[in-house]
Amino acid sequence: MTTRRTLDQSSKLKSVLYEIRGKALVEAVRLEADGHRILKLNTGNPAIFDFEAPHQIVRDMIAALPHSHGYSDSRGILSARQAVSYRYEEMEGFPRVDPEWVFLGNGVSELITMTMQALLDDGDEVLIPAPDYPLWTAMTSLAGGTPVHYRCDEEADWAPDIEDIRSKITPNTKAIVVINPNNPTGAVYSREVLEQIAGVAREHGLLLLADEIYDRILYDDAVHIPMATVAPDLLCLTFNGLSKTYRVAGYRSGWLVITGPRDHARGFLEGITLLASTRLCPNVPAQHAVQAALSGVQSIDALIAPSGRLLEQRDATWAGLNSIPGVSCTKPMGALYAFPRLDPEVHEIHDDEQLVHDLLIAEHILLVQGTGFNWPDPDHLRVVTLPEERVLTDAIERLGNFLSSYKQ
Ligand code: PLP
Repeated sequence: MTTRRTLDQSSKLKSVLYEIRGKALVEAVRLEADGHRILKLNTGNPAIFDFEAPHQIVRDMIAALPHSHGYSDSRGILSARQAVSYRYEEMEGFPRVDPEWVFLGNGVSELITMTMQALLDDGDEVLIPAPDYPLWTAMTSLAGGTPVHYRCDEEADWAPDIEDIRSKITPNTKAIVVINPNNPTGAVYSREVLEQIAGVAREHGLLLLADEIYDRILYDDAVHIPMATVAPDLLCLTFNGLSKTYRVAGYRSGWLVITGPRDHARGFLEGITLLASTRLCPNVPAQHAVQAALSGVQSIDALIAPSGRLLEQRDATWAGLNSIPGVSCTKPMGALYAFPRLDPEVHEIHDDEQLVHDLLIAEHILLVQGTGFNWPDPDHLRVVTLPEERVLTDAIERLGNFLSSYKQ
């Protein structure tokens, strides 16, 4: 006799959401299997829009492959950690990064997961921006913590609302997440805003978690100021990696650097070290990509310079979205996304997930709804600015036509 017990997902997953690869993607894959071509604007994955991996990175990884078959140090190979440390040494005002306090990961994603698991007990609160890159919220919940969203203000170019942050601090607040440049809004924060956030963290003893994976993807005159440079006196974890700047998201290669005083956080840091050991080590060939990337030609610079591909695509997306009646979009100053608003007086959307589904069926374009980024109202969409300009322009025109007759 065979016994089959029902297997449900764990209750821990009840509050874990990741709509970037949600139901609409499942539907898109089904449509593709039926022979339809879908324009997938749901993930910031440069490779699928014909961005090549920089040759030097590929070459060095291939050269390292025959020697990469063993586990490495749990934090990562020393040469890569040193390369990360030099990267920050070259940044004015960045506190010294000892390679001992660099952890490599299978993408920033793994390091976010490890950090939250090491940090949180049930009921601990983490301040996370709304809108956010939703892994931060998901991993906070999975670790038993409570995500508390602070508002970013669209009217102020999506800058974090400092008063809202202050009003949400409780005795249970442990950390504040800052995503700069921001996914999904494209905002790049001013020194003043960062100093205010650092001030709140200083006053309330909060850990700073700075996701700066887009720090080299900046448009026009935008300047990125690393969080650690305005808070050298605070414990700050800075996350970054190769997925976006070097267009090798599939290699799964990221890092975490820990700066500031550590004595008061010995237990937490031992927790991160323990979790780094339990995963044994990150993928070793991809660790060899780190030094190659950081010491080689910074090919991202040409892509964001005047007439660079990424800049032109940002411009086309922004202009196109603003030309749709009832749609407005703050100019993204960094990253790879636009986050347009649908004026509720013009477009009565009650369910933005349904809107994304209906757009997919009608136009074969896959976007992600704003609520998928923990934005509270169903009045935003996220558009990835990676496809070539003509593809984006055409897609946005079709979005406009679709919206002109769409009713819920
Ligand atoms: N953080 C932000 C803000 C992101 O946008 C992404 C990916 O889109 C990640 C982290 C995850 O990056 P990785 O590919 O290094 O896991």
